[in-house]
Amino acid sequence: MDKHMYEQCGICEEKKPYGIHLYHLFICQDCEYNMVHTEPREVKYQYYLEKLKPVTRPTLYS
Ligand SMILES: [Zn+2]
Repeated sequence: MDKHMYEQCGICEEKKPYGIHLYHLFICQDCEYNMVHTEPREVKYQYYLEKLKPVTRPTLYS
């Protein structure tokens, strides 16, 4: 049995042993690297921002 603590990455949603915690989210090394090397103008960047949104969002009044 692998004793390693695997956590589910909030970006790729795979269980990874290594990564960082950003706010409420665990981000694996691969995704962290990808994020760092993603330009804000890229579509992927928006995807990451969506994932990084805090769980508690302000209530929308309409
Ligand atoms: Zn990941």
